[in-house]
Amino acid sequence: MVLLLPFVSILLGYFLARYFAQNESGLAYLLSFSGAFLLSVTLFEMLPEAFETPSRKIGMFIMSGILLQIILDFFSKGAEHGHVHLNKHSQNFPWLLFLSLSIHSIIEGFPVTTNHDILLGVIIHKIPIAIILTLYFRKAKFSTLTTLTFLLLFAIMTPLGSFMAEYVLFLRNYLSAINAVSIGVFLHVATTILFESSKDHKFNFTKLLTIFLGVLIAYFI
Ligand SMILES: [Zn+2]
Ligand SMILES: [Zn+2]
Repeated sequence: MVLLLPFVSILLGYFLARYFAQNESGLAYLLSFSGAFLLSVTLFEMLPEAFETPSRKIGMFIMSGILLQIILDFFSKGAEHGHVHLNKHSQNFPWLLFLSLSIHSIIEGFPVTTNHDILLGVIIHKIPIAIILTLYFRKAKFSTLTTLTFLLLFAIMTPLGSFMAEYVLFLRNYLSAINAVSIGVFLHVATTILFESSKDHKFNFTKLLTIFLGVLIAYFI
C-alpha cells in the first residue's frame, strides 16, 4: 500500500501548483530540499547496500544509470530535475517527455520496495517535479484534460516499477543490477538539482539552509 505514495505525491504536486505559482522562491527551496534529501539517502542507504557484496559490476551499473539519465535528459529537457522546455506552439501530448519521465519513474519504483527512506526520498522528489510540470502545462495552455492525463499516467509509473520488482519473477535475478542503475539515476538527478540551484552563484542563505536541512534529516531518520 505504501508503494502507492509516489502516486499520491504527484497528485499533491498538482494541487499545490496553484499555491506555488505565486511563490517561485518557495518552489526553488522545495526543489533544493528534495535534491539534498534524495542525494543523501542515495549515499547513506543505497550505496552501502549496493556494495555489501563488492564488485566492479556494481560500479558499472551505477555508471550506466548516470549515462541513461543523461540520455533521458535529451528528451525530457531536464524535467526530472526541475525545468521543462517544450515546443511552445504545440499543444499535442508531449510523448517524448512522457516516455523519458516514464522510464525514469519505473526505475525509481524498484529500490523503493526494499527501503522506506528511499521511498520517502522519491515521494519528496516527485512533489516539486509535479508542481513544475503542472505550472508549465498551464503556461503552455495545455488543456486540463491533457495535463491531468499526463500526470496520472506519469504518476502510475513508479508504482508500476515497484509492482514489477515484486511480482515479475524473472526480474528477481536482476534486482541488484537495477537498484545499482537507480543509484546512478538518483546521483545524476540530485546532483543536477543542487548544481542548478546555485547556477547564478548568488549566495542565498535560505537555500543553503534547506540543503543542509535535507542532508541532516536524511541522516537522522
Ligand atoms: Zn537542467
Ligand atoms: Zn524521479
